[in-house]
Amino acid sequence: MIWDGTGADAFPADLLVENGRISSIARTPGQLSGEGAATVECRGMTLMPGLVEGHAHISFGGAIKDSDLGLIPPEEHLLLTMRNAKTLLDHGFTSAYSAATSKLRLDIVIRNEINAGRLPGPRMRAGSPEITVTGGLGDERQQHMYHESFGMIADGVEEITKAVRLCCREGADNIKINISGDDLSPAAHGGLTVMSEAEVMTAVSVARDFGKKINCHARAAGSVKRAVKCGVDVIYHCESADEEALDALESAKHRIFVGPAIGIIYGTLYEGEPFGFTHEMAVKFGMQRILDDSRKVYTELRKRGVRALIGGDYGFAQTPQGTNARDLKHFVDLLGYSPSEALQCGTRLGGQVMGLGDELGMVKEGFIADLLLVNGDPLKDLDMMVHEKNLVVIMKDGELYKDQSAPVAAQRQAA
Ligand SMILES: [Zn+2]
Repeated sequence: MIWDGTGADAFPADLLVENGRISSIARTPGQLSGEGAATVECRGMTLMPGLVEGHAHISFGGAIKDSDLGLIPPEEHLLLTMRNAKTLLDHGFTSAYSAATSKLRLDIVIRNEINAGRLPGPRMRAGSPEITVTGGLGDERQQHMYHESFGMIADGVEEITKAVRLCCREGADNIKINISGDDLSPAAHGGLTVMSEAEVMTAVSVARDFGKKINCHARAAGSVKRAVKCGVDVIYHCESADEEALDALESAKHRIFVGPAIGIIYGTLYEGEPFGFTHEMAVKFGMQRILDDSRKVYTELRKRGVRALIGGDYGFAQTPQGTNARDLKHFVDLLGYSPSEALQCGTRLGGQVMGLGDELGMVKEGFIADLLLVNGDPLKDLDMMVHEKNLVVIMKDGELYKDQSAPVAAQRQAA
């Protein structure tokens, strides 16, 4: 069965891949000749587009506090990022849209190695570090003490200009700015809008000059409105959007994407205990409120047709890399999406945010052959997408990265 990512029901078909692309899809059996082709038996399984992580932090790994990311030396950090890239591909993510990196060149060098065929990993749009103002999310400095963190601190139009240009020079595809604070951040909580309009405007305009996309961290309603007004492409979080902010997001829905990053909220509330986040602490830090508000806001955004991306800040201790596909079920259980809508957020809309909407994220003739063969029907049980063993085939760019189809077919026959 082919689930093609358009939202239509799955249908039985044969499919041919040539030169990295899907060359034909035949709904009548026996129409396609397998002559000269390697054949993969897909009976009883679902063929679907590869997943797109819409809020990737491939340089994050196991951090408990944001500032932990600053304590990893560059050499270890590069190796960690390399391992995470493989972990994502192993779990069916054939593309990753970076929400930010934690050192300037980590995403960039890994993307380049993947593109050169020297490392396994998803196709990537590399992120910049989180450009933040003094006191904002990602500024963990203390007076008279020296710390590294994951933010790139820039204040005022001139410093923001320079920071964005530096990221562009080094090869980032996506620029990230932190417009609002964050509830776990000491100086600026999530209700505050700490990056000025002039600063946001500057970041967007410089990113545009270099032909880059721009993402932002925006929890407060004021931050969401500022992001839309200034032309940011991907607006993450948005849980405190008021009516005016919802209207703004809707009015820009043909050019923007939103992303709730709900995995980290769920993980901190319910699975943070081993890492020191008791449920009471998580509630105190606002996680329950964010979850409740996200449900309201994303129900509204879904009805208004605003495109949302999966990706829940995977890469922290309570959201380990490789569990990223849990966001699919979170979209259903926590935010009210249907299984098909959630999967489209992780495939078709992912192709669009990668800037490849007419060739990536769907199973269509002419599209890039990034495909997953899933042992069962993911629409009946999205949880199955999280487990590597259910991903029988992973194909990226028409290349079989993983093919367990023969042993699985033998098992089925024996059963
Ligand atoms: Zn993030």
